Formats: sequence, structure tokens, C-alpha cells
Amino acid sequence: MFKTIKAIGTDAVANPLTTFRIKRRGLQDDDVEMDILYCGICYSDLHQLKNDFGAAHYPMVPGHEIVGRVIAVGRAVTQFQPGDYAAVGCIVDACGECPACRRDLEQFCESGTTLSFNSPDKHLGGMTYGGFAQTYVCREKYTLKMPAALDLASAAPLLCAGITVYSPLKHWQVGAGKVVGILGIGGLGHVAIKMAKAMGAHVVVFTTSEAKVADATRLGAHQAVLSTDPQQMKKFASKVDLILDTVSAKHDVNAYLNLLKIDGSVVLVGLPPEPIEIGAFNLVKGRRSFSGSNIGGIAETQEMLEFCAEHGITADIELISAIQVNDAFSRLEQGDVKYRFVLDMSTLQ
Ligand code: NAP
Ligand code: ZN
Repeated sequence: MFKTIKAIGTDAVANPLTTFRIKRRGLQDDDVEMDILYCGICYSDLHQLKNDFGAAHYPMVPGHEIVGRVIAVGRAVTQFQPGDYAAVGCIVDACGECPACRRDLEQFCESGTTLSFNSPDKHLGGMTYGGFAQTYVCREKYTLKMPAALDLASAAPLLCAGITVYSPLKHWQVGAGKVVGILGIGGLGHVAIKMAKAMGAHVVVFTTSEAKVADATRLGAHQAVLSTDPQQMKKFASKVDLILDTVSAKHDVNAYLNLLKIDGSVVLVGLPPEPIEIGAFNLVKGRRSFSGSNIGGIAETQEMLEFCAEHGITADIELISAIQVNDAFSRLEQGDVKYRFVLDMSTLQ
């Protein structure tokens, strides 16, 4: 059993996105079916469309920052009913039994996390299709509740950008008395500034874009540094506890390791396709670490949504219609977005 719906995607790496029809599975007992209202556009969608990691399957329908309205629920569903606002992020299934799943870390499921797109589809075969589409069907366990206080369109990016930065900020215990560096002001970075500030940290932004220096303070940063200026960088040597690195392309992380205090850490969440080189002395001096983090589990994603509702945090978005999607991806590639594109799915008619 399946339904045929409209979606936006591409059939090959070099081709532009177009509208075509895809299958969505029929409702299983523990499924929630939603009309998609909004879907954010993350740089990970672009990495996959370009096959940056060599793991792309076509046709591909991207989109993993999905906010919708529930239209149907399976017989065993208890937490959602038609009419509810709900959301789906990166994770749509996992084994539920391995040590990672038992720790609510489904993003590290030992049997392989099923992602919302470009991931083996257990029901229909082939690969999962993402949120650039009319509807989504997801198991209740992996469906998120949208807090009423959040604006639906500007909250969509929280489903990936939000949880990807919230999880490490929590894990590395960011709070009052900590100096936190946010590297790169893009979709992830601008939400990280807002969250780290709400957690009580002193927030310093490192940007390559002169035009974003003033904007960083508007977003809530206490200080902003033009990272291409060695004089400005020097002032922060050994001053920062934690640096969240959201950069999507090749860059020199050694320059940032040198800004860490003793025991500080640079946490990579950005996914530059090229390997990263680290000078030994930049780590051993100061007992520093270089680490990474990948999205966050379902329970933590729900917690993050509640945190954002409590602190009034959403993304700064540019709401676009379906026909603007190719233009949006080329602007994202050029770093020309403040700070997240969100697709208004009602325009996919
Ligand atoms: P984005 O909106 O394009 O932001 C990335 C920012 O990095 C840019 O705004 C820019 O900030 C900076 N940057 C870009 N190219 C650079 C370069 N060559 N050198 C130095 N800085 C550069 O992208 P995003 O959606 O936030 O995603 C960022 C990265 O995180 C992507 O690689 C994405 O795939 C990855 N990601 C990872 C996870 C995870 O779970 N680990 C989840 C989601 C996304 P400035 O202009 O301020 O310098
Ligand atoms: Zn993403």
C-alpha cells in the first residue's frame, strides 16, 4: 500500500531540481501522516545533491527540517491526532534496542539510523524521500510535537540546525562563566549564537564575512571576530572554552585550536568533504581536544524544541516558494542567505 504524491527533487547529480511524483507508504499502525507545511534547506541537502560524500542515490528528494499538520494516524498511535502540528527531523527510524538507542542516541544506532532522505527505505525498498514534498509518513516514536509558542515556518530549521548545535552545547556543559566560540554564521551558526546566549555563556563569533560582524551582535553574540584578520584572532589566543565549528568547506582548524584555554575543545559539526589536518602541538599543548557531534536523539530534539519555545528562539529565515528552490541552492552555495531558506510547501501545487 502506498500513496503517490508530488515532490521536488533531482534525478542526477548535475541536474536542477524539478517537480515529480513519488510514493509514500500507506499508514502502518504506529505511523503518523502529515501534510508538510514548511521544510528548511540545510547545507547537508546541498552536500547530498552534489554527492559530496559519494553516498547519493537518485532520484533524490531532499529535506529534513519538516513541519506539518497531522492528517491521519495509525491505530496504535496515542500521542498525535489529526489537526496537531508535528515535525520530523533527520531521524525517522532506528533499531530501538542497541546500546546507542537505549541511551536515546538514535543518531548512532548500531544497525544504522534511517534518515528522512537518501537512506534505505525499510517499507517501500529503494531510498527514503525527504520533506520537499506534499506529505510525510513517520513512526510516532520518531515524530516530534511542535510547541504552540513557536512560529512554524521559522521553527522548521530547528529540526536539524537547532538540534545539531543544541546537543553539543549541552554535552559540553555550556553555561554561565563559559566562553563559547561559534565558527561560521550560517544556518547552524546563527541558531547556535542564540542558544549559547540563552544558556548563559559569553558568545564570541568567528566569521569570514565582514558584513556579518555587525549582524553577529544583533543575533546575540557578545563579540564578533573577523577570522581573516590575524590581529583580531590573536586577541583570543587561549581565551575560549569551547568552539563549535559549523563550517561546511575546507578550512584550517589549527587556527581555532590555538584559541582554546587548557582542556578546551573544538567540536566539529560542519561536514567539509575533505580530510582535516591537525598539527600535533596544537592539541598536546593545553591538553586540548578536537571532537565531533552529529545531530541529536529524538528525546533531546523534543527537549530542544521546548527550550526554544521557552527562550523565544527560532531561525532567521527567508521563506521561498517551490519555483525558487534552484535559486535558493545556488545562493546557499555562495553563502548568500540570512540565515536559512525555508520552503513554503503550500506553493507546491
Ligand atoms: P551554511 O548556512 O552555509 O553555513 C556555513 C557557514 O560556514 C557559512 O555561512 C560561512 O560562515 C562559513 N563558511 C562557509 N564556507 C567557508 C569556508 N570555505 N571557509 C570558512 N568558513 C566558511 O551551512 P549550514 O546549513 O549551517 O551547515 C553547515 C555545515 O554543517 C554543513 O557542512 C552541513 O552539512 C553540516 N551539518 C552537520 C550536521 C551534523 O549533524 N553534524 C547537521 C547539519 C548540518 P561565515 O560567512 O560566517 O564565515
Ligand atoms: Zn541538516
